[in-house]
Amino acid sequence: MVETWFKAVSLQKWDAREKKIYLVAPNQFVQDWLNTHYVPIFQRHLSRLLNVDAVAISFSTQNTPTPDAQASVPAVNKTTLARKADVKAHQGINASYRFDTFVVGPSNELAYAAAQAVTHRPGQVYNPLFIYGGAGLGKTHLLHAIGNEIRASNKRVSLIYQTADRFVNEFIYAIRFDKIHLFQAKYKDVDVLLIDDIQFIAHKDQTQEAFFHIFNSLYDAHKQLVFSSDTYPQNLNGIAERLRSRLESGLVTDIHAPSVETKVAILKKKADLHRVTLTDDVAFFLASRVVSSVRALEGSLIHIIAVASLTGQSISLELAQKVLVRTHKQERADVHMEHIAQCVAQFYGLTMTDLRSEGRLKHISCARQVCMYLMKQMTDKSLQEIGLFLGRRDHSTVLHAISRVKEQLKKVSFAAQVSSIEERIMQAS
Ligand code: ADP
Ligand code: MG
Repeated sequence: MVETWFKAVSLQKWDAREKKIYLVAPNQFVQDWLNTHYVPIFQRHLSRLLNVDAVAISFSTQNTPTPDAQASVPAVNKTTLARKADVKAHQGINASYRFDTFVVGPSNELAYAAAQAVTHRPGQVYNPLFIYGGAGLGKTHLLHAIGNEIRASNKRVSLIYQTADRFVNEFIYAIRFDKIHLFQAKYKDVDVLLIDDIQFIAHKDQTQEAFFHIFNSLYDAHKQLVFSSDTYPQNLNGIAERLRSRLESGLVTDIHAPSVETKVAILKKKADLHRVTLTDDVAFFLASRVVSSVRALEGSLIHIIAVASLTGQSISLELAQKVLVRTHKQERADVHMEHIAQCVAQFYGLTMTDLRSEGRLKHISCARQVCMYLMKQMTDKSLQEIGLFLGRRDHSTVLHAISRVKEQLKKVSFAAQVSSIEERIMQAS
């Protein structure tokens, strides 16, 4: 996989004095991907190649103008800044996280409705609003959506979005440099305060104290307060009881992991935003394969779009399978065949002996096929090894099983079944 990325990149300029190398990626997707995943690898290889201790790397895309020798700010920085300016609205609000870019399903409809209600009558209903749920399920998106919506309807509303860890840092900075009055002034007069990942103020007693006062004075003045967290208020360890009970005094609502259908809808929406079309088979495949979070789902989609655009292929089921199998294998190298077989057997109410038996009863052979498929997806074992493990079957039997399962994955109910087995495997491993 790494080679694919390397090949796509060309050298634009080497600035020996600054020890900086300018590389060009064929498009924005590839650039973003390289920036987040491969910078250290590039640095390692290039510094060896160029025989210097450390090299700084700057990526740009093909349509970025070449930086001239005098320019102190490389061209790539300008584009990055321009792009940031596009998406950043006021007070740290990301303009692309809106209600209309959020897909609503059973897993998030309550949180969504509450968030909308808050924007219609800030400070009047559900105060504070407390949204909790696992990582990557859309909490931050909803907080920004509230901010964007309130801003759009009234430009004069003063609004702050802040993550709790930055809030803590701000506070520490304020005490260190004797700027507490500025800190207090900043938060005292807002109409809407959105604090993301409030769990990060746990065990920070002094920050909690300051936060408690801000909370009370805003609350008493009927200002809207919105919080997100990875768990519900009473479960927040390291947060003072009086603060926990304040946090849960309004509306507490959670977001769960989305259903396969919601995941498909999210994928289609994201694909639209990137101006690519996603066929149903690819969307269902991704939705059933990626279980952990919407963020991971989005990551896989971007990965596939990037590989497609890099290699000039269209986005097909085959390509999606190839890309995902590679990433999943890397993440899941520690899952064993034994464990997978146990989870599959348990799911179908069978024993290990059933799975390994000669038996050709339909429900047993179906379970066996799913087992083979999952072993191929989740481990590095060869077809031979998988066949051997499951009752000395030869590799062509395994191959056949895998392709049958892939065929059936087009059915939503079957895809959901396989993904729930996979979830069990991951949870218990
Ligand atoms: P959290 O804050 O809960 O960890 P985020 O709000 O950062 O999760 O969401 C992670 C990514 O998934 C973001 O890019 C967000 O836009 C996207 N996302 C999550 N839920 C949805 C949804 N229901 N519809 C559209 N995009 C979503
Ligand atoms: Mg978040």
